[in-house]
Amino acid sequence: MALSGIQIYQLLPQTNCKECGFPTCMAFAMKLAAKQAELAACPYVSDEAKEKLSAAAQPPVRLITLKADDHEVKAGNETVLFRHEKKFFNKPGLFVRVRDSEPLDALKARVAAADAYRVNYVGMDLGLDGFAVEAASGDAATFADAVSAVREVSERPLMLMGRDPAVIAAGLKPIDGEVPLIVGADAGNWEAMADVAKGAGAALAVIADTLDGMVALSSRLKDKGVENLVLAPATRRLGSSLGFYTQIRRLALKKNFRPLGYPILAVPGDAPDEATEALLAAQAIAKYAGFVVLDTFAPELVYGLLVLRENLYTDPQKPIQVQPGVYEFNSPTPESPVLVTTNFSITYFSVANEVEGSGLPAHLLVTDAEGMSVLTAWAAGKFDAERIAKAVKEFSLNDKISRKRIVLPGHVAVLSGELEEELPGWEVRVGPREAVDIPAFMKQAL
Ligand code: SF4
Repeated sequence: MALSGIQIYQLLPQTNCKECGFPTCMAFAMKLAAKQAELAACPYVSDEAKEKLSAAAQPPVRLITLKADDHEVKAGNETVLFRHEKKFFNKPGLFVRVRDSEPLDALKARVAAADAYRVNYVGMDLGLDGFAVEAASGDAATFADAVSAVREVSERPLMLMGRDPAVIAAGLKPIDGEVPLIVGADAGNWEAMADVAKGAGAALAVIADTLDGMVALSSRLKDKGVENLVLAPATRRLGSSLGFYTQIRRLALKKNFRPLGYPILAVPGDAPDEATEALLAAQAIAKYAGFVVLDTFAPELVYGLLVLRENLYTDPQKPIQVQPGVYEFNSPTPESPVLVTTNFSITYFSVANEVEGSGLPAHLLVTDAEGMSVLTAWAAGKFDAERIAKAVKEFSLNDKISRKRIVLPGHVAVLSGELEEELPGWEVRVGPREAVDIPAFMKQAL
């Protein structure tokens, strides 16, 4: 459990010698509590205090990193149950599963297509994180060939799925030096699987269908020296998965219960149909998976999951923003109108897409509203006539534009009078409330 600033202060020497760079031990303690300073900066901490502080500094959910070449997928290090309490840190990795029973050419084609899938969402390039290769054949050589085939067409991190330690060991050979996730260890194979994972430096998923079983198995594996564990509850239904995952995360965060302090692996790909798979995957992203394995690679499914993940894992206190400035669409001239909006990414891209789609030339003035949408920024005093006029001046629109027309978003029509006063010589127009109505407005009114 994380210590408070006061609790940390009680473990410090309390001499206020300033050698750590802070004026008092209390100031240093507060920075340590906020994870903005390193304990090593104080040369006088006793060994006993160091031990207590480093134990408290361990994250309640261990960070697990899968690696392959230049690609990494991280899961864990979460500290809150709900995003609004602080933020979520590591987005769940999305993996697509293939099986070694598939013909290798078909397997490679599927992996290559999924590997190449990228989509741009509000200025960010999103895509899948890795692949899971399942040893469905039960044959070591066949499995190793399938892993090699995947590695030929993708450089992303892998999971190796199977319960036979000898087959998994064969699959590890073609990816020597990487850090994959082995899925996994169960009550029957855990000792042998622990040896395989330790030998390869791989992370190991613990498979159990009850909370007690999961605790017993993860404790045994930790005692055997496997530190990098992932919990894989063997549940396939929406309700039982939600309950199991929530209990794991609550016990890890609220009780600092170490046997459950690991990321969770969800396998929606086991669902009986694609609709259930989509629901299980969305639920797992929201609560509380660190890795998600899909069987279906379909852009219409993956896009929705990537956007959901992005929206949940952005910092709620730092909205996604675009750079304030003047953006040009459809080769505008000095005669073309100026539309104005805020720098909240979703607002910007909604407006920009419609302006571009209209086919009509226009300038889009994006003001610095600290990443808020139009109405929120207006209510917070971050999007008003004075700020818009300041942006017009800052980006030299008086010099660039000969026919001075500026279009306000319809939601802030109330600003039009003030803006006329702030911008003498400009014609202030009120545009539509919704971005989707911009093309029609531009065609009819500009
Ligand atoms: S170096 Fe240590 S003892 Fe000195 S002020 Fe900083 S925390 Fe206190």
